[in-house]
Amino acid sequence: MVCFPEWQYCWGSDCRVGVWWRDAPKGAAIDCYPAIVKVGREDDRQQVGLCADCRHSGQRVSDRGAVFWFCELSKVDARFAKYPRLPVRTCAGYEREDVDDLVVLYRPVGQAEFELVRQSEFRAFPPRLPQQPFFYPVLNERYAAQIAREWNTKDEASGFVGYVLRFWVRRIFLAAYPIRTVGSSEHEEYWIPAAELEIFNQNIVGTIEVVAEFRGE
Ligand code: SF4
Repeated sequence: MVCFPEWQYCWGSDCRVGVWWRDAPKGAAIDCYPAIVKVGREDDRQQVGLCADCRHSGQRVSDRGAVFWFCELSKVDARFAKYPRLPVRTCAGYEREDVDDLVVLYRPVGQAEFELVRQSEFRAFPPRLPQQPFFYPVLNERYAAQIAREWNTKDEASGFVGYVLRFWVRRIFLAAYPIRTVGSSEHEEYWIPAAELEIFNQNIVGTIEVVAEFRGE
């Protein structure tokens, strides 16, 4: 199959599939799969249709980096496909997600990571370094502040500064990840594999806020 997407949504006459393919040169042959869309930016999400902000939608990433949008309602109602054909423009099951569908998370960061978050206009966390296999958001502000205050402010690589960032993530996305308790009961965090950080970022709703700042002596 040959598609000509290059920053457009491919929906050829003989194609049952829509695919974003930002990296492929025009006319490149690509592999397509039902109901896949590759989404890299917030505005790309417009191409997904209603599923993009439906409380019943979720995403999975294939080992080739494609993002699959799935419908949780398909488990209980045969009218809905497990992987809806995208973009979904009308849907009887659509319910816009609200704050109950989100989980608030925190992350302590040093100056360098803070600058990269700022460069994203406070919408995404930067890719992990090769020696950092996981991204560790934490579940409460006190734990994040403890790390920022007691570790980042003493760390030269952090610029002796610690920020506490707060952000909201779709609950349905986080359901795939167990909560890890790494100390006392308040030391709870998620371990997001570095390869899945991009899709994690896509499941951040709204902007990342700075809620505390600590500086070393
Ligand atoms: S209910 Fe409709 S809009 Fe919501 S995830 Fe399923 S297919 Fe998408």
